[in-house]
Amino acid sequence: RAKQQGRGRVEVFHPEMHAVLMDRLDLEADLRRAVDQHELFLVYQPIVELETMRVVRFEALARWNHPTRGVLSPGTFIPLAEETGLIASIGRWVIGEAVAAVRRWDELLPGPRLGMNVNLAVSHLRLPGAVDEIAEAVRAAGLTPSRLSVEVTENELVREHDEAVDALFALRELGVSIAVDDFGTGFSSLRYLRQLPVDTVKVDRSFLVDVDTSPEGLAFVRSIVGLGTALSLHTVAEGIERPTQLAELRRMGCRYGQGFALAKPLGEPDVIPWLSSAAPAVAVG
Ligand code: C2E
Ligand code: MG
Ligand code: MG
Ligand code: MG
Repeated sequence: RAKQQGRGRVEVFHPEMHAVLMDRLDLEADLRRAVDQHELFLVYQPIVELETMRVVRFEALARWNHPTRGVLSPGTFIPLAEETGLIASIGRWVIGEAVAAVRRWDELLPGPRLGMNVNLAVSHLRLPGAVDEIAEAVRAAGLTPSRLSVEVTENELVREHDEAVDALFALRELGVSIAVDDFGTGFSSLRYLRQLPVDTVKVDRSFLVDVDTSPEGLAFVRSIVGLGTALSLHTVAEGIERPTQLAELRRMGCRYGQGFALAKPLGEPDVIPWLSSAAPAVAVG
């Protein structure tokens, strides 16, 4: 680009650009060590059956307790992990940790067994042996595979459909369930939903912003939920922040929901106390 702008010009390399680059390189080196150094941890957000307001599963969400930067959210390091190929080792760690956690809760809780959702990248799933590793992790934890659900974003499914197909069918064969995450944002061909062994769609939270304030917003979410139902898929509404949103989703018959109005992601020490005290007190809209 500097060259096109004519002779005598040099590319100006701003000090800020340098800083951004060095920052990224630092973070990349740090991330390589993070898994080994036990700097990653998981928080767990409940998924609630809206008709009964019962917690049925949890979604494991990654956090990075960086030694100098504090706790980082996945938005800051998952893209970096994808670019650097670290995503598979992070994914392996997430699965092992999440299935072990839900197994611990089995011991501590009476009543129905909870499910566990993990977010995995297609670039991880398509690696040879990835599905066998998942099978082994589930077996090692003493868990029935059907209690695990793998979430793959719709965007990735669209971009890497061919790479994902075999892994998804192998997971399905194993008995693991598959959810399309951020549904509605990836312009997925609806055909994929019928071709792929998907059993759940998670309606992206961007669709919920005006579900309780505008007739069009309501109609929009209703049609997405209706589509899921028509295809015999479970539907989960993500990002329910207000009681009025919750009320609309319950009214339209969306089966499951997740969001700050129900519960924020919880650290593991808070899960059991929350389940035994706060959970039943969730306001019914
Ligand atoms: P996601 O899988 O769609 O997860 C939901 C995100 O929405 C989480 O953000 C959650 O904290 C947030 N959220 C939940 N309820 C509400 C709400 O009511 N309002 C608002 N404003 N936000 C809500 P988080 O934990 O920052 O994760 C962001 C994304 O990073 C996730 O989106 C997922 O795609 C990705 N991610 C998280 N953990 C992992 C992981 O272990 N592996 C991979 N590959 N991706 C992960
Ligand atoms: Mg997710
Ligand atoms: Mg989601
Ligand atoms: Mg989302």
